[in-house]
Amino acid sequence: MTAEVVRTTRPSAKQQVGELYAKYGQRKPMGVSAPSPWLPHYFLHRTFLGDQDLLIIYNTKRCKYRCHFCQLPAKSSPTLIPGSEIVSQFSYVVKELKHSLSVLDRVTFSNEGSVLDAATFPTEAMLEIAEGINELRRVRTLVLETRLEFVDTDVLAQIREAAPRVSLNILTGFETHDPYIRDKVLFKREPLDVFERGLDRVAEAGAQLTAYVLFKPRWDMTDEEAVAEAEASIDYLAEQTKARGLDLSVRLNPMYAADGSRWAKKAHTSADYQPPRLTDVMRVAEKKRGEGVNIYIGMSTEGLDDGSNYMGREDYSMKLVRPVLLFNGGKINSFDGYI
Ligand code: SF4
Repeated sequence: MTAEVVRTTRPSAKQQVGELYAKYGQRKPMGVSAPSPWLPHYFLHRTFLGDQDLLIIYNTKRCKYRCHFCQLPAKSSPTLIPGSEIVSQFSYVVKELKHSLSVLDRVTFSNEGSVLDAATFPTEAMLEIAEGINELRRVRTLVLETRLEFVDTDVLAQIREAAPRVSLNILTGFETHDPYIRDKVLFKREPLDVFERGLDRVAEAGAQLTAYVLFKPRWDMTDEEAVAEAEASIDYLAEQTKARGLDLSVRLNPMYAADGSRWAKKAHTSADYQPPRLTDVMRVAEKKRGEGVNIYIGMSTEGLDDGSNYMGREDYSMKLVRPVLLFNGGKINSFDGYI
């Protein structure tokens, strides 16, 4: 074979790496459904707040809730995916990542719903996977995304027993402190007293809490109202967790219109609707970190938005991305000089 032929038949290193990076790097597409019950919806080895984190979004039966701002159940299976197949999804991921297993510090489990809901993610499967996690010698944190009603202290104790090296972090969508917005706008069906009883169980289990707060959860809010509302939600979380001796992290998420959601349909018929300004989100995060809250900013729309998000506002530019990443990584605590 001549050198000429070799040049024309194989891709260049630049082309090959560029394609692999686009397909499997930080821009790996999110939001599509897994093509088979033996495959997860998504996984990514990523740097996350200084940790080497493995995120797995399992492919399980869909979440039974229908929150008006969320389209995640629409991409998930209407029928139960057996625990053995969920364990196979985990096996697939660890085989794909075999060369980087020894550097992982933390593992994050999601299933586009609640991984502690045994009706969608059988407990036996979770315990088998937790035993596997225990073999990852550097992993110190296992993050479990769930509504708090599914936090069962006995199950968390069993997970701890299966993976004694890791501490558990419960990741949950709090969204807002405002009962009207929770119930009538977001249709969360999780009253504050139910959330607070869940916090009691998280504390009793000795786990930590990470909570999502939605920035501008009403489409008819002004930018000023959105700032005040986000601050009040974060303050509520800080007080409630402090009272229980719970470690709190907050992910402040600028609201986006999830494609096809009821929230999006109503927002688009409202003359007052404007997505949030990222610079407002940044200023609230900066202020709350200054007050001692462990907070970071979620910029992903998980591939589910209909194009209506913070990037459409007049304050947005690509120049804001780097300072947010620096802030999230703890490299800066103030956006002065950037906005
Ligand atoms: S926000 Fe959570 S609980 Fe509500 S529908 Fe989406 S996945 Fe289910």
